[in-house]
Amino acid sequence: MTLPLGDASADQLRALADIARRFVKDTLRTTVEQNILFRWVSEADLPEFYQAIKAIGLGAADAATIVDVTACPGTDTCKLGIASSRGLARELRYRLGEKSLELDAAVKNLRIKVSGCFNSCGQHHVADIGFYGINRNVKGFQVPHFQVVLGGKFHDNAGEYGVPIAAVPSKRIPEAVLSITEYYVRQRVKDERFQDFVARIGKKAIKDLLEDLTKIPAPDVDRSYYTDWGDPREFTLADMGVGECAGEVVSQAEFALAASERELFEAQLLLDGGRSQDAVKAAYAAMLHAAQGLVKSQNPAVSDGENEIVAEFTRRFYDTQLFWDKYAGGKFAEYFFKAREFVRDGKAADADRAVQLLQEAQLFIDAAHGCHNRLRATVETAVKIENAAQASA
Ligand code: SF4
Repeated sequence: MTLPLGDASADQLRALADIARRFVKDTLRTTVEQNILFRWVSEADLPEFYQAIKAIGLGAADAATIVDVTACPGTDTCKLGIASSRGLARELRYRLGEKSLELDAAVKNLRIKVSGCFNSCGQHHVADIGFYGINRNVKGFQVPHFQVVLGGKFHDNAGEYGVPIAAVPSKRIPEAVLSITEYYVRQRVKDERFQDFVARIGKKAIKDLLEDLTKIPAPDVDRSYYTDWGDPREFTLADMGVGECAGEVVSQAEFALAASERELFEAQLLLDGGRSQDAVKAAYAAMLHAAQGLVKSQNPAVSDGENEIVAEFTRRFYDTQLFWDKYAGGKFAEYFFKAREFVRDGKAADADRAVQLLQEAQLFIDAAHGCHNRLRATVETAVKIENAAQASA
């Protein structure tokens, strides 16, 4: 039985207790997909049982379908949340629910799961279509995004994790879901499962499919893209004030971070082609490029040599804890150091190690974006304070 977004009111819970007493002798279970499970309802009781749950607003017939989106608390209540996972889940549930009768059977049983950050409390890593919240800088504004993660297995005891494909602005995720599912229906071979489809089509084709959706209009054209789901406040824009941001200036660090993402994607293609060793080297090079972008934002004079970049990154970002994540601490930076060691020592990478290293590289690059945005916000706040002080002098 579906609990939309995993929510139930006190009245509904009291009524569920009565229903449990009436039909299943007192016991019910909560499920890992945020639903309620009644075991052993007799077939003869089903019509009455359905009327009882329908009467309390819980009779939707979409449990374990694509409409039944799982989401962690995200920015609603979690201090670690980056993007609104519940807001996105609510929107997807509404849009998919509206067209659920038209959905192709192959799509209907896919699972969508959303986490507000990489920690995966929303289980995005084991969803057919998963999302985790990140932020990206667009024209000087922080914009909520979700990393699209495809092909995770909820079945087979969560037998496989999904792979990150692209960072898409939060407000364009419903379009991304539509594109991906329509593409799946069009290109699917016979009874091909979604995971097999993703593996066969390849990440590049899906990334190309989503390419247009990674772009958003400028803030003066449509500001809605600069807000998050369910929150009318502009994401950062309100704090910065019109005209006080860095405007059109794209920093060198942002170029480097964007380049590192492209390089990591190339690494994933190498991995897809069975070239694990090359994929690992390319993923490390992508991490190094991201680190270089951060280092140069603090010390433009640093040389491009690998040793210098790593030393400066360690000194300026790791030792100072500037790069540290409030939840993961220094873990993501340590992924970078470990990858360096792995490549430097010339260790052989089997496919499993390569997959792990590429996932760690993605987390490192996401963390580099986060660190850059934090630093940028600090500088902008300092400029605002200085401007305000000068104006009132
Ligand atoms: S995934 Fe992140 S945002 Fe969601 S509940 Fe866990 S820590 Fe919080």
